[in-house]
Amino acid sequence: MHNYISISTLNDYIFCPYSIYLHNVYMETDEGLYHATPQTRGRVSHESVDTKKASNKRDTLMALPIYSSKFGLVGKIDIYKQSEKLLVERKYQLKQLFRGQIYQLWAQYFCLIEMGYLVEKLAFYEISSNKTIPIAIPTQQEEVEFTQFIERFKNFDPSGNIEINFNKCRHCIYCNLCDKTEEDNVY
Ligand code: SF4
Repeated sequence: MHNYISISTLNDYIFCPYSIYLHNVYMETDEGLYHATPQTRGRVSHESVDTKKASNKRDTLMALPIYSSKFGLVGKIDIYKQSEKLLVERKYQLKQLFRGQIYQLWAQYFCLIEMGYLVEKLAFYEISSNKTIPIAIPTQQEEVEFTQFIERFKNFDPSGNIEINFNKCRHCIYCNLCDKTEEDNVY
């Protein structure tokens, strides 16, 4: 499992690749040092899944550990409804759907099908509004796009030139720990 990418970091990579490097540096430290409000809320929304409280239905799998040898991915799904062949990722709030969030759902999908599960439908579920947002199964072309994204992730060099977007830095959970910026975060 060495060098496998955690699915939970895919969206962070799109936000800023350097944040993945910082995540790896600080992952052993007290999470309270860097977790900002949105991340804490996101974690809480997943806790009911991780502790398997979200549903009692027999055909619903929750927090199932997943992997893909093909893509080099590991992680966990939120919810898989076997009878509906439906994979769901819960988010507390989804004002906007970012490509990285779609990649995370695709990553879960690719892992599940590689593990032999049947998945025919994908969706996000917004907890704050009780809304389900269906997502299409990735096409062949989108699988190529995803493969190229994973390759970029694997080949990222934190010592190379990094494009800094100071507006992003102000909203980054690593802002106060990052050597690339003097910004303060807004949380
Ligand atoms: S503070 Fe800025 S440069 Fe540093 S990891 Fe965050 S977004 Fe990237």
